[in-house]
Amino acid sequence: GPVRYSRDKHGIDRRYVSRHAIKVCEVLSQKGYDAYIVGGAVRDLIVGLEPKDFDVATNATPEQIRPLFRRARIIGRRFQLVHVVFGQEIIETSTFRAPASEGHETDEHGRILRDNQFGTNEQDAARRDFTLNALYYDPIKEEVIDYHHGVPDLKNRVVRMIGDPETRYREDPVRMLRAVRFAAKLNATIDPATRAPIENMAALIKNVPSSRLFDEMLKLLTCGHAMDCLQRLRELGLHKGMLPLIDMIFEESGGQQFVELALERTDARVRSGKTVSPSFLFAALLWKLVDKRWNQLIEKGEPTIQALMTAADYVIDGQTETLAIQRRFQADMREIWLMQPRFERATPKGMWRMLDHPRFRAAVDFLQLRAEAREVDSVQAQWWMDLANADNATRTEMIDAWQ
Ligand code: ATP
Ligand code: MG
Repeated sequence: GPVRYSRDKHGIDRRYVSRHAIKVCEVLSQKGYDAYIVGGAVRDLIVGLEPKDFDVATNATPEQIRPLFRRARIIGRRFQLVHVVFGQEIIETSTFRAPASEGHETDEHGRILRDNQFGTNEQDAARRDFTLNALYYDPIKEEVIDYHHGVPDLKNRVVRMIGDPETRYREDPVRMLRAVRFAAKLNATIDPATRAPIENMAALIKNVPSSRLFDEMLKLLTCGHAMDCLQRLRELGLHKGMLPLIDMIFEESGGQQFVELALERTDARVRSGKTVSPSFLFAALLWKLVDKRWNQLIEKGEPTIQALMTAADYVIDGQTETLAIQRRFQADMREIWLMQPRFERATPKGMWRMLDHPRFRAAVDFLQLRAEAREVDSVQAQWWMDLANADNATRTEMIDAWQ
């Protein structure tokens, strides 16, 4: 059976647990169901990190869960779960599910296409990825239930796959990227047996749908340890299948420095609790490629702005095959890039128009990044930053003085 840890052993301070997640567990438990906080939240609480969100796992089915809450909706096609809504917070509540088995549909590489069997708590633990992600916290008894020695692994900072690593990577190659992300985030090592198959299986990443790869890449880049993640990805040979452009970015002159600066800023923002815009991030990651193409087109005689638009299309289209950047992000990235030459040649009238642009703020941030990389004058970049931060009267003064 599982190992049970009481309060003094797991050390979770109930004050850091979402009261809404506790509420969901209480309601379910009053109706006679088992309900636990599970996954990333338990892991983060044990090591003293603030959880991003709270998930609940229960033996109640979605149809049984939904009527127990005022605002709850069933979502998902592949596997139904319930979103219980409390103001801004959503508690994702899912029914214990059975792990991969013979009955599951897989592709020719063993990747699971459908799994929607309900299961027991023990089965639910077995189908999770890493031991430290398979912990169940009962907020009423204040007890952590551990089926796979996740608590010791977590305390020793070891990322260890549940079951046979090779099989688990075949079922879902994204787990290779998740191993890297949790290792970086927790400053952990990947257990040798969990790490060993990755080199040979890295190529399976290309079978993952490009939209899912984008989501996972975004999580990697915004986990607060992006540089460490990229470093580890390169060490494991995982960057190739996923982001072919990462190599090119690093090979581009000044590319590595630019990407590092962008990721340092991103990490700093994430760690101080600020949000990061995906558009800004990908605009930065791909900028050196755009810049190179842009200059080539200008040399060929294309007008500056038109050349930049062509270069933007070229780079975005080239990337989309492997890692699908969502359309709305693509549009924002283009706007951030296209505003760059305008900073250098704006007229006072043009400046006011730029100030009204919804992407002005992001574009100015981007200009600052370019100044840090010594691509543009830092005094000029600071002037725009000041303009962005100023009230209207000060803006008028600044723009008048600029003439
Ligand atoms: P984060 O801090 O990024 O939210 P997390 O561990 O909560 O980390 P989620 O993607 O939110 O990650 O998933 C929640 C839980 O679901 C995980 O902790 C893990 O138990 C399980 N899980 C998620 N993705 C997989 C996967 N690809 N294979 C197996 N189990 C998974
Ligand atoms: Mg999570």
